[in-house]
Amino acid sequence: MFVDSHCHLDRVDLTPYAGDFDAMLAQARAEGVQHMLCVCIDLEHYPAMCQRVKDHPDISVSLGVHPSERGGQEPSVDELVRLGSDPAVVAIGETGLDYHYNDGDLGWQRQRFVTHIEAARRLAKPLIIHTRDAREDTIALMRAAGAEQAGGVMHCFTETWEMAKQALDLGFYLSFSGILTFKNAAALREVAQSVPLDRLLIETDSPYLAPVPYRGKKNEPRFVSHVAARIAALRGLSVEALAEITSENFFRLFRAARPAEQRLPG
Ligand SMILES: [Zn+2]
Ligand SMILES: [Zn+2]
Repeated sequence: MFVDSHCHLDRVDLTPYAGDFDAMLAQARAEGVQHMLCVCIDLEHYPAMCQRVKDHPDISVSLGVHPSERGGQEPSVDELVRLGSDPAVVAIGETGLDYHYNDGDLGWQRQRFVTHIEAARRLAKPLIIHTRDAREDTIALMRAAGAEQAGGVMHCFTETWEMAKQALDLGFYLSFSGILTFKNAAALREVAQSVPLDRLLIETDSPYLAPVPYRGKKNEPRFVSHVAARIAALRGLSVEALAEITSENFFRLFRAARPAEQRLPG
């Protein structure tokens, strides 16, 4: 049974399901997805995102503003703490630094990242960190702002082993997406081979980054099994064992998320 530790369910293409959101979820469940973490990228869409997933106990939500989002409401620490104190919010993010899709003076992006780290510390909830082409600044800000006190995950990890090691040393988990299945991702597969098994997570980042053999198509949570299968092969494990390990890791890190069978009635 897989956990998709990072997806944007409010953006998944429902065309194959005739627009039926529940049918898309049913298919994911039928293919072994036991839990999904639906990740927030801006405050404007946050209420609608929560509304969309609220009747599904196997879906958790996060709260945050993506480092590449411009023009929307800029979050303050107080606002994130106010909204994030809802018990349904299991993590703060996605946040982080992205120097690939942004240029010029990115002081605003660093400030926004620090705001999220402070909110996560105050809430004692884990961070979901997005990092791209910003290795040194990401680690430097995590250290300076005390991110290890909140803990969390480096999601859709595509960076070097050196950075992986620094994040692991800060107590963070690493999550791998369909990128790991791409032909040109040999270096990344080496990183995934070296991460301690108890710090490993899997994700789709749906609707983006569909794994091989769906590369280039719209991604959805059911494809997480392809990420799992690739890592299992790399690590010499069965897919079932890899699924169990990464699911355990998920529920250990995101303490407020509950496996379906452990949910209390009512
Ligand atoms: Zn991301
Ligand atoms: Zn994402």
